Amino acid sequence: EVKRNSKDNYAIYDRQLENVSLERRIIENAMRKGLNEHQFFLEYQPKINIQNNQLVGVEALVRWNHPDLGAIPPGKFISLAEATGLIVPLGEWILKESCRQGREWQNKGFGQLIVAVNVSVRQLQDPNFVQQVEQILKDTGFNPKLLELELTESILADLNSIIPVLNRLRNMGIQISVDDFGTGYSSLSYIKHLPVDTLKVDASFVKDIHKNEESKAIVKAIINLANTIGLKVIAEGIENEAHVITLRNDGCMFGQGFYYSRPLKKEEFEEFVQSRGFIPS
Ligand code: C2E
Ligand code: MG
Ligand code: MG
Ligand code: MG
Repeated sequence: EVKRNSKDNYAIYDRQLENVSLERRIIENAMRKGLNEHQFFLEYQPKINIQNNQLVGVEALVRWNHPDLGAIPPGKFISLAEATGLIVPLGEWILKESCRQGREWQNKGFGQLIVAVNVSVRQLQDPNFVQQVEQILKDTGFNPKLLELELTESILADLNSIIPVLNRLRNMGIQISVDDFGTGYSSLSYIKHLPVDTLKVDASFVKDIHKNEESKAIVKAIINLANTIGLKVIAEGIENEAHVITLRNDGCMFGQGFYYSRPLKKEEFEEFVQSRGFIPS
């Protein structure tokens, strides 16, 4: 009785596993096809100096425009792209397209507009990554000083292998920021040893910063930490004026979020720049 039961359970378990890997293979193949058939595109969310309201740059965010399913957000496919390794060619395309676009905006007289690109741990661990970045900068003619790479805090799990890569990138003039800062397990003590330029305060703390004393205290501590050790700090997920006022008073220099702008298509971003008279210095 018991035996039969557990056998049945195994059968169900096996079928579920099969379904998972089948689903995974279907999406993986669809992504591969999507990459070949140019179904991916980028949107750009403005980054603002919240102290003087100047535009300082954009964050490039990938989207997948699937022919049958329509627009698929990155939350639905990035982790699978990471698990299958497809993030390496996809990430290479994202970086290339970001730098190409950045160079085009340079040519259009958009000033010192910084283009930030999200990079997965998997990409950074690829032994060819630095060389790939060098090649892309060379091919596109984009100024490395205007390129920023956003790495999530989880990347810090493997510091010994990551630090030399970060140093090489920074020696090229590229800026590094730690995305979603505050959500990982980083012990603050090693932040000062990290070769990075910017901390990005995670949106979850910003969300109730004007109402919740704990969130406010955490954000304030991150801002103070950054200011003390000479890092820049940017708050993400700014959605209303109360957020801005609190962050400004706490000494946060930079911000991004729906309050300023949603992520925009290339043409929309160009309109945003023109209509707001937002030419970065
Ligand atoms: P992230 O890098 O932390 O990006 C911020 C996310 O918050 C974006 O979601 C953005 O659209 C959203 N956001 C911006 N302002 C607000 C706001 O005021 N309120 C709220 N609620 N959300 C806001 P998105 O574009 O769906 O991207 C989600 C995540 O997917 C990103 O988080 C990043 O981790 C990953 N991702 C996006 N594009 C790429 C990419 O090109 N490469 C890699 N490796 N990962 C990417
Ligand atoms: Mg990011
Ligand atoms: Mg973020
Ligand atoms: Mg985030």
